Amino acid sequence: MKLNEYRKKRNFAATPEPQGATTTEKKGNKSLIYTIQKHMATHLHYDLRLEWRGVLLSWAVPKGPSLDPEVKRLAMQTEDHPIEYADFEGVIPAGQYGAGTVMLWDRGTWQPESPDVDGSLQAGEIKFTLYGKKLQGSWVLVHTRGFGSNPGRSAWLLIKHRDQYASMKDVTQEEPRSVASQRLLADIARDGGGDVERGAEGDPGGAGRPIAGAKPAPRRIARRRRAL
Ligand code: MN
Repeated sequence: MKLNEYRKKRNFAATPEPQGATTTEKKGNKSLIYTIQKHMATHLHYDLRLEWRGVLLSWAVPKGPSLDPEVKRLAMQTEDHPIEYADFEGVIPAGQYGAGTVMLWDRGTWQPESPDVDGSLQAGEIKFTLYGKKLQGSWVLVHTRGFGSNPGRSAWLLIKHRDQYASMKDVTQEEPRSVASQRLLADIARDGGGDVERGAEGDPGGAGRPIAGAKPAPRRIARRRRAL
């Protein structure tokens, strides 16, 4: 039942994405999958996925995660994805739902800070620890009503907590490659017969993001001055 929306949106004869065979809930203390997929679709975004009760809870983060605890990143909750999706990297063909290039940007495991995950989701605040290759430490997703009013698309904010893994490092710019294959979006698009130019727009220096080392946004300068 949980994957109905996921399956309804996709034509599995046309997309290489997994249909999702199982929604088996892990018993005991088995570690839970965490992944972020960088997705160059209509707009570049980062899909944060956390395994829970046999599926991957999913949020689309347009600007990607920030290691700076002062930065709140909008995270739109999307349909649950099958567990098998955590291994997907490749090209979703033109004309299909989410058409574009998907990169496994980060992966590892996660742990909720409170065992009552369903209660936390209901309450609109879930604190968790990530054990990824690029993202680690404590994070929070906070439900917000501040963005838009579309009831089908639930808005959350993704925020890094202050800990040893918090920093001013621009992680999406400095670590742009696939954690699985070391490829950039353009490489994945090329290998998968996708739109290479469009893929390159999401790589550093592409139209999707500023060039690494370019002038920081005014807000950020102001904050740094304050910090001094
Ligand atoms: Mn996506």
